[in-house]
Amino acid sequence: MALSVTILGARGSVPVSGAQFSRYGGATTCALFEADGDAVVLDAGSGLLFLPPEAMERPSLPLLLSHPHADHLLGLPMCPYVMLPGRRLDVYAAERGGLDARAQAGRLLSPPLWPVGTEALPAEIRFHALPRTLRLGAVGVDVLEGEHPGGVSVFRLEADGKSVVFATDVTLGEAFAARLAAFARDCDLLLCDGQYTDEEWARFPGFGHSSWNAEKKKKKKCGAKRLRIIHHAPFRTDGELDAAAAALRETDPNFDFAREGERISL
Ligand SMILES: [Zn+2]
Ligand SMILES: [Zn+2]
Repeated sequence: MALSVTILGARGSVPVSGAQFSRYGGATTCALFEADGDAVVLDAGSGLLFLPPEAMERPSLPLLLSHPHADHLLGLPMCPYVMLPGRRLDVYAAERGGLDARAQAGRLLSPPLWPVGTEALPAEIRFHALPRTLRLGAVGVDVLEGEHPGGVSVFRLEADGKSVVFATDVTLGEAFAARLAAFARDCDLLLCDGQYTDEEWARFPGFGHSSWNAEKKKKKKCGAKRLRIIHHAPFRTDGELDAAAAALRETDPNFDFAREGERISL
């Protein structure tokens, strides 16, 4: 079975554009997991606008939403997939702030913040509560509650003996880092929040993110084969990410920062 993860958006908080962001990309969080006949979308940041043609042709697509912060939802109303009649997007999300999946999307996608609601889109959008485990075709999904303001779902996707853990928007305090290490044990690929330098992490406690150094320690602990840091700070340039990656790879060659458009075979 051919399995892959495509990074469609690796930026955190807000999308950015400009020559200084061209290699790691400016779109916010979105990834596509593919396992032969099955595909699962992770988050609906502005990267959702860049679904590859094979995914666009699928009559239906499941989308797992980690949490409803705007940078993880803002690709939903204008992504080309939902502009196609005859397509169906199944959105799974845990209840957040007393709001179910439909109400979370409805906060952003309704007047006065947006001209129309999701019911006005040509594709059908169905909303589902997120259980602790679910099966989407050949893909098994386990869910862990992460540490982030308002809460966040961390996903482990498995198919054909390979696994990917998607842990965006998490703060790696000691207790949660241990839970995440157990949840991600021996996965083939760990996608993990690493928005900050150590110095920024100390300056912004309570913002719900982690430093890339903390991610590196955790990867060692859980035995993930590969690590890609996601949710890059909006102001972090390609040159700064290159320099940080080079320094970290001196001790771990399997470490890297995720790049928009990168397809990782498992
Ligand atoms: Zn975010
Ligand atoms: Zn968030």
